[in-house]
This record gives sequence, structure tokens and C-alpha cells, in this order.
Amino acid sequence: MLLVLDKLVDKEEGKLFMRESMKVCKVCDQPKHEGLQLLYAFICTDCEKEIINTSPEEERYDYYVERLKACSYQKQ
Ligand SMILES: [Zn+2]
Repeated sequence: MLLVLDKLVDKEEGKLFMRESMKVCKVCDQPKHEGLQLLYAFICTDCEKEIINTSPEEERYDYYVERLKACSYQKQ
């Protein structure tokens, strides 16, 4: 079963699909179709909603900010 999956992923169409319509979210590290492209980072719609619904007092908020900061430092 795993071998079959590997072959499917190796197909040229699979690579093209991954490259053109999926981006890796900088917050959850998952490849997603939809999201927000920032200057240095891509954020999926799920994480975008999470960030919006998280207040700066919450511990999770710092985590999101750190993830996004790390992205901008990498590019400089
Ligand atoms: Zn995400």
C-alpha cells in the first residue's frame, strides 16, 4: 500500500500539482491550497482564523508571532 502511494507522489502531475497550487503554511507546516501570502510567509486560512481569534494575552499568540518572525529573519 505504501509503495503504491510513493509511485503516485512521484508522478510528474503530482509534482506539478504540489508546486503550483499548494504552499506550505509557515505556522502549521502543512501544505494548503488556500491562504494568505504575506511578504515573507504563507499562512493557511485555518491558521489565519486562529490568529484572528487569539488575543495577544494568550500564550498561543506569542507562538504565532514567533513563527512569523522566524520567517522574516530567514529571508534577510
Ligand atoms: Zn496553517
